[in-house]
Amino acid sequence: MVEIALKNIYKKYENNENYSVTDFNLNIKDHEFIVFVGPSGCGKSTTLRMIAGLEDISEGEFSINGKLMNDVAPKDRDIAMVFQNYALYPHMTVFDNMAFGLKLRKFDKNEIKSRVENAADILGLTEYLGRKPAALSGGQRQRVALGRAIVRDAQVFLMDEPLSNLDAKLRVAMRAEIAKLHQQLNTTTIYVTHDQTEAMTMADRIVIMKDGFIQQIGSPQEVYNSP
Ligand code: ADP
Ligand code: ADP
Repeated sequence: MVEIALKNIYKKYENNENYSVTDFNLNIKDHEFIVFVGPSGCGKSTTLRMIAGLEDISEGEFSINGKLMNDVAPKDRDIAMVFQNYALYPHMTVFDNMAFGLKLRKFDKNEIKSRVENAADILGLTEYLGRKPAALSGGQRQRVALGRAIVRDAQVFLMDEPLSNLDAKLRVAMRAEIAKLHQQLNTTTIYVTHDQTEAMTMADRIVIMKDGFIQQIGSPQEVYNSP
């Protein structure tokens, strides 16, 4: 069970005179698929990165199940993040790319092996575990990035434009895969995109952002049928 609460969240980068996120308020229910949508620069990534702990929260409270998370280190959050550029290590095999976060957290070797092999099985990557990222297709690289998140066995998934480097056809196929993973793993997912169709097809609730503010929150029907 996870309930995420974001209360009066503000972000001001030191080198930026404007606020990047202003008075962001959102309660996320267990197992919801939330999509942040809006034009480039509206504050989607910044908000996601604050939830991951990759950026400090300037003001406000972020909590999970009532526990204040603002000062919890990223590695101690029950949160896994998938990045737009995949952030794979080119010199490491698929296995080691997926294992990396677990090694960092000092997981036992057999546990690492079993988690990586299980994730590879879910993602259809078993035969590619010994390859380097350069020897994979775009879709396979994307799956490795997902695999890295899956092995964490985290309750919360954060995804920052994970499909934007793929061609249109693959993008549509991967949408369905991500939706399926969300069900299968019973995660709570926050997904960032500038693509309205992606938001429409994937979200339980959409958060429309503009200039650092929340403009609207609702189901896809509510958001896109409103005048
Ligand atoms: P989005 O993800 O919606 O494209 P971002 O969260 O990346 O938006 O950016 C929101 C605002 O914060 C933008 O005006 C951007 O220029 C600014 N910004 C993002 N990262 C930094 C940073 N590291 N330093 C200063 N300003 C930043
Ligand atoms: P050791 O060889 O020290 O007993 P392991 O058998 O756990 O350790 O794995 C060593 C390395 O072998 C891992 O870091 C990984 O690179 C690779 N490896 C382990 N299992 C697989 C697998 N199923 N497919 C591809 N590579 C693997």
